[in-house]
Amino acid sequence: MPDSGIIPLLCKILNITINDLFSGEVVDMKDNEKRLEKNLLEMVKLKEQKDKQLLSLEIFIGVLVSIIVITCVFVASYVEMNDIYRVLIIITGFIPFIIGVTYCLKIEQIAGYYECSKCHHKYVPTFKSVLWAMHINRTRYMKCPNCNKRSWNKKVLSK
Ligand SMILES: [Zn+2]
Repeated sequence: MPDSGIIPLLCKILNITINDLFSGEVVDMKDNEKRLEKNLLEMVKLKEQKDKQLLSLEIFIGVLVSIIVITCVFVASYVEMNDIYRVLIIITGFIPFIIGVTYCLKIEQIAGYYECSKCHHKYVPTFKSVLWAMHINRTRYMKCPNCNKRSWNKKVLSK
């Protein structure tokens, strides 16, 4: 699958429609609508699958960096050593933790949607609002861009 930015130009050069490209053949006009719907549905499914994988990756990264930081703090606290090494070990543990958590937040922002509990509008929030929102697991207390009300918004995969 080519990069989405070059698809329109590619189709123009090849003198085919985008629907033809996604279908893998020149679509007959009478099948056009049916194929268009099928291709759209496939793309939605593909996005859902990718989002699911991203959210699993988030858990993996979260657990991994937590184990690293806990191990570092534990070693720095209980193993006999010079104080400067204790500080260095704790810093070493927190660097991957901060990078990992930032990456996890980015995944949480872009994978799937948040659903407003008041008006049921589904949206992709800004990174800033994800970062500062109170949360219980993946449910975050955020302001809905549609109704402007603050509520606990659930993470959902489909729009
Ligand atoms: Zn709302």
